[in-house]
Amino acid sequence: MKGKKEENNLMEKIVSLCKRRGFVFPSSEIYGGFAGFYDYAHYGLALQNNIKNSWWKKFVDNRRDMYGINSAIILNPKVWEATGHVANFADPLDGKQFNTMLQTQVGAKADEVAVSYLRPETAQGIFINFKNIIDAFHPKLPFGVAQIGKAFRNEIAPRDFLFRQREFEQMEIEYFVRAEDWEKYFEYWRGEMLEWMEEVGIDMNKVHELEVEHGDRAHYSKKTIDFEFDFPFGRKELYGLAYRTDFDLKNHKLEYIDEEQGEKITPHVIEPSMGVDRSVLALLLSAYTEDERDEEVREYLKLKPNIAPVICAVSPLLKNKSELVEYANVKVFAPLKAEFGRVIWDDNGNIGKRYRRQDEIGTPFCIVVDFDTLADDTVTVRDRDTGSQERIKVADLEKYIKERIK
Ligand code: ATP
Repeated sequence: MKGKKEENNLMEKIVSLCKRRGFVFPSSEIYGGFAGFYDYAHYGLALQNNIKNSWWKKFVDNRRDMYGINSAIILNPKVWEATGHVANFADPLDGKQFNTMLQTQVGAKADEVAVSYLRPETAQGIFINFKNIIDAFHPKLPFGVAQIGKAFRNEIAPRDFLFRQREFEQMEIEYFVRAEDWEKYFEYWRGEMLEWMEEVGIDMNKVHELEVEHGDRAHYSKKTIDFEFDFPFGRKELYGLAYRTDFDLKNHKLEYIDEEQGEKITPHVIEPSMGVDRSVLALLLSAYTEDERDEEVREYLKLKPNIAPVICAVSPLLKNKSELVEYANVKVFAPLKAEFGRVIWDDNGNIGKRYRRQDEIGTPFCIVVDFDTLADDTVTVRDRDTGSQERIKVADLEKYIKERIK
């Protein structure tokens, strides 16, 4: 069991690596920061995009029963009255209930101005489009609608880096089923969520399922499982899976004509809800590794190649030898960059320094062009995790990488 100090240390190390290597910056830092807000920098953004793309591919593109949507962030305030959020979306503060929806005003003229809210969940953007989706796509039950987008909560105590922010991102699915089928699909989505977590590289030894008890469940849910993760600050919710019954569709007075049974029904809903930012944090914590190399502690991110911000870095052994630079640029970097995109040029400092930097970014492969390359068209490919190096033909590089990013 790791001590508390060591675990606190781990968070400090992650936060510091994120800043130093350009993953995540505290927002508005030159004005003292702003609690609960963060800015994703180049590598953090790449990591985030890879997570979102992997989610979208698995749950939307690879399926036949899922429709995507990108709804507005500010909805008619009547939406949040109908759902009970205006009355119930609150946390206790000094003995009173504090509503955590972030308010804003819409409209310029006094008689048009309406208090509205930045959505606290992406889910409602799905429900309010239920009828439009049915009319446009005529889906048969069961089917789902997926959305990735920002959500806002005026958290009373934002904390723990990306874990509890006031502006964050969610990946949510509302899966519509017949009432009698809800248990079957609840189990099905439990499995799908676990499968995806493993696919992206979340440390499954740190994931635990918790069935949330009645009093602790959201006001709309009849059964909820939290997928908790062993964060350094405790075992906390990473994702949620909720059976929302027909609560939302009923509130919005929405129905579905079931052609099979020839009647109007209100479908029931299974909702897998996943935070992008908590995914980023859990992945960083899962991937962060230290080992000893040349009597020094080496820090690296053991991210899967398909999730790592950079797939490979290309370097000329010496940056002042024009024949090396030109070969590396034209014959190695340019074609790999065109093929994979997430490829960077790194000629800063000596090779050892470059490896260390790429280790911290989590780059699985470092490719070095040296004098032998000029003679035999092979390069050194160095593996991030083992530090081992092999000579690979330049002509085989693309294939070599493709085999490893599946
Ligand atoms: P918590 O109990 O930690 O406040 P919650 O139960 O309110 O979370 P949900 O309403 O189920 O969270 O939101 C769905 C998902 O959105 C969560 O599983 C989490 O991944 C993410 N999420 C919720 N609140 C935040 C936040 N303040 N910052 C970052 N991510 C969040």
